[in-house]
Amino acid sequence: MSGSVALVYGDALMKHHLSDEHPLQPIRVKLAVDLIKSTGLIEHAHLLPPRSATVDELHLVHSPEYVDLVRKLSDPAQRRHVSPAAIDAAGFASADNPISDELHEGTALVAGASLVAAEAIESGAALHAFSPSGGLHHAHRGRASGFCTYNDAAIACQWLKERGHRVAYVDVDVHHGDGVEEIFDSDPDVLTISLHESGRWLFPGTGFPQDAGRGAGKGSAANLPFYPFTWDEPWLMAFDRVVPALLRRFKPTVLVTQDGCDTHHLDPLAHLAATTRIWPHVGRTFHDLAHELCDGRWLALGGGGYAIYEVVPRAWTLLFAEMVERPDLAAEVDDPVSAEPQEEAQERVWTALRRDLIQLGEVHGLNFSLSP
Ligand SMILES: [Zn+2]
Ligand SMILES: [Zn+2]
Repeated sequence: MSGSVALVYGDALMKHHLSDEHPLQPIRVKLAVDLIKSTGLIEHAHLLPPRSATVDELHLVHSPEYVDLVRKLSDPAQRRHVSPAAIDAAGFASADNPISDELHEGTALVAGASLVAAEAIESGAALHAFSPSGGLHHAHRGRASGFCTYNDAAIACQWLKERGHRVAYVDVDVHHGDGVEEIFDSDPDVLTISLHESGRWLFPGTGFPQDAGRGAGKGSAANLPFYPFTWDEPWLMAFDRVVPALLRRFKPTVLVTQDGCDTHHLDPLAHLAATTRIWPHVGRTFHDLAHELCDGRWLALGGGGYAIYEVVPRAWTLLFAEMVERPDLAAEVDDPVSAEPQEEAQERVWTALRRDLIQLGEVHGLNFSLSP
């Protein structure tokens, strides 16, 4: 099942720097790539440099007015001519999405990096490709949100769709993949699946089991929320119940995964209690499904993960080890044990999960129930 694997990275991606105090620090991607190199995994892949996405490519999912606004905001000379109302409407009035001179250039480079990965897969240069700086899943058509300006994940999905693909997008970031879901919510050719901490407790507050797409896209979005303190065992059990069954029914020709690792118990921005021990299983499952359903075509993106030193490099190294089928080279960076919460919290997690899986199954006409 091996095939050639590409990793898209270059130090130019350090330009995707929102501000000095911001939790999304580009160094996290460099640290992950450094660990992929020092474990020897890079010997089993080829490194591709990123490029900037063109304005036409950004228009694949973003409105021309929005792209124009982002470019103006990134230019100190033009910035002062943009009205506060326009800045507010485009999502740039909050600390989550600060304005900087590098805003357009940095995030267009992230979008281009994910397109380089998509192109490598489409041309056959690589069977699997990883764009760890990508996965900016909260950006909407005409609005920045949750640290995301341009939605590289949606741009890559749309780019692949325009080449005739049926695209399955699976998002395991701790936050709901709301931007990607909304962009494709009436598109029957793009399935979006998001597993995330429930919007009752966490940004962006959306993504419940009944949210399944609209119009012609009804049924092509699936959402599974998790209760706070969900740890490895229930998280993986739910992943195994939901993801393979939905993918097998949809029959995609390419798999795109958003691999945010902010599900970890050390992550400062969310409240799940997973460890890095989910990653070998997640990586292997994505890998197997890509071969089973998509002739191997698998585009993996990064995503959230704000325990920059403690978690992100290890999680993405474990994922990448599965892409190149050398989990042995990464085994020693895995967490040694799962982190189980107190019994009372465990009960709440299982109760909520059983209920949500039944509801999700009813919405999609499949049986996701945990009971035998
Ligand atoms: Zn493979
Ligand atoms: Zn996230």
